[in-house]
Amino acid sequence: MSVLSNNTILSKYLSLEQRGQVQIEYVWIDGMNNVRSKTRTINFVPKSASELSEWNFDGSSTGQAEGHDSDVLIQPVALYSDPFRGGDNKLALCATYNPDGTPHKTNYRHACKQVMDAHADSKPWFGIEQEYMFFDPETAKPYGWPKHGFPAPQGPFYCGVGAGKIFGRDIVEAHYRACLYAGVNISGVNAEVAPGQYEYQVGPCEGIAMGDELWISRYILERVAEDFGIIVSIHPKPVKGDWNGAGCHTNFSTEAMRQENGIVEIEKAINKMAKRHLEHIAVYGEDNDQRLTGRHETGHINDFSYGVANRGASIRIPRHVGKEGKGYLEDRRPASNIDPYRVTGIIMESTFLPDN
Ligand code: ADP
Ligand code: MN
Ligand code: MN
Ligand code: MN
Ligand code: MN
Repeated sequence: MSVLSNNTILSKYLSLEQRGQVQIEYVWIDGMNNVRSKTRTINFVPKSASELSEWNFDGSSTGQAEGHDSDVLIQPVALYSDPFRGGDNKLALCATYNPDGTPHKTNYRHACKQVMDAHADSKPWFGIEQEYMFFDPETAKPYGWPKHGFPAPQGPFYCGVGAGKIFGRDIVEAHYRACLYAGVNISGVNAEVAPGQYEYQVGPCEGIAMGDELWISRYILERVAEDFGIIVSIHPKPVKGDWNGAGCHTNFSTEAMRQENGIVEIEKAINKMAKRHLEHIAVYGEDNDQRLTGRHETGHINDFSYGVANRGASIRIPRHVGKEGKGYLEDRRPASNIDPYRVTGIIMESTFLPDN
């Protein structure tokens, strides 16, 4: 395939001396729940995002502004090693602002950061399980699916091994290593229930870092899959019918939950979240109703439930947490296409609502 030979030639140029100049890839979230990026050269090696200057882009091309007055500002907020260029080059995750300095309406990080800062002493940890599916651009079908008809029913694919069961392991492996190189706290990967579907986990991450790291891990996935000429879908129901949808199970704990008898705190938080089920669902992803049907290891979108080791519940207390009486909870409702800033933000907000 031509995409592969291009990358072979590219590697020759990527090994050229940079003469002290550093390439910074500014990455931001657009108005369509996608990532965008562009590059600038600087003449020093930054140690943190705060050393990088603000920049701007044309918001009328990203669903973030009208034609006139279309500048949107981007402020670097987190810095990662660039796994594509290597060396001293960096990826800079940015937050978006209006020209007057107020947060852009698609900047969900701003409010998330406020609630994280307000309760920083509770030491909130999150772990997100990002599920997704590869698509073949030539057939517009999930990667590895036959041109006509369907693959065998679900069964052999979850954590599967062997030809005919796994499609795209090379992309998964490349993404995993690229995340480790970047400094993303990726904690694992596994093949999922539908063929061509995968999951990786990021976490535990404290506070605002959860949203930052999940977004940059998605950026890295898009870039890696681009190299392989394969499309990534984070739609919650990428294939209609008897095929599993895709979620972003969000695991959560505070220091109090992680301590002896923390299960009491876990249940308190669950009871508060239960009272705001629909408010949570409202920020748990577009088209999540197609996924939360009460089938395929989900709870129904209109019902709130929780239980130990129950994968059909809205919130699951892992079996080992129930047994040890401390640990974390797993909110299984969030869809694969969430903005993690909104989800971690509302979980914090609900957990710290005053009693009654
Ligand atoms: P599952 O059994 O639901 O498939 P995974 O192993 O895929 O679970 O994901 C569990 C996630 O929970 C990981 O991202 C992990 O980092 C995260 N996690 C583990 N301990 C905690 C904790 N105390 N608080 C928050 N998240 C945690
Ligand atoms: Mn231009
Ligand atoms: Mn998992
Ligand atoms: Mn999963
Ligand atoms: Mn899970």
